Amino acid sequence: MFIAHLPAGYLLCRPFARRSPSQARAIFGVGLVCSVLPDFDLAYFYLIDQRRTPHHDYWVHTPIFWLVLAATVALVLIATGRRKQLVLVGVGLSSVLLHLVMDSVAADIRWFFPFVDLRVNLVHVQAVYKPWYLNFLLHWTFALEVLIWLLAGHFALHDLRARRTIGTEAA
Ligand SMILES: [Zn+2]
Repeated sequence: MFIAHLPAGYLLCRPFARRSPSQARAIFGVGLVCSVLPDFDLAYFYLIDQRRTPHHDYWVHTPIFWLVLAATVALVLIATGRRKQLVLVGVGLSSVLLHLVMDSVAADIRWFFPFVDLRVNLVHVQAVYKPWYLNFLLHWTFALEVLIWLLAGHFALHDLRARRTIGTEAA
């Protein structure tokens, strides 16, 4: 997907933040960054690789890399007695995996790389228009992205109003 990673990350973080209110800021911070983290590879794609390899083929777009990384961080936290921060590993991993699920809608994601080179791509967006991004903006899947933005906007407003009400009552 194109523009819906951040609002989808927000929607994913909400239940975690509600369950651990004392860590809500950290949960949203980690979750929102991780919801777009795999796409930081676009800098490498444009600046160094000169667009030779599709950026979804880089290791930051492979789930097993993130599973291994999250397991390593979790083990370090457990070994150093910081179990309270495990929720942040859970939020970060969930956000990254959600990103990859959403990318699988209209792009090739290698879910079992390096063990199996199976590419998951639910919808093939045809190259009809130029420039290339119009093919995504004018495809029906883009309506899903707009819907995710609307849903996240709705809940963000709801949360903001609830916080203001609590602030007014406390004053
Ligand atoms: Zn991506």
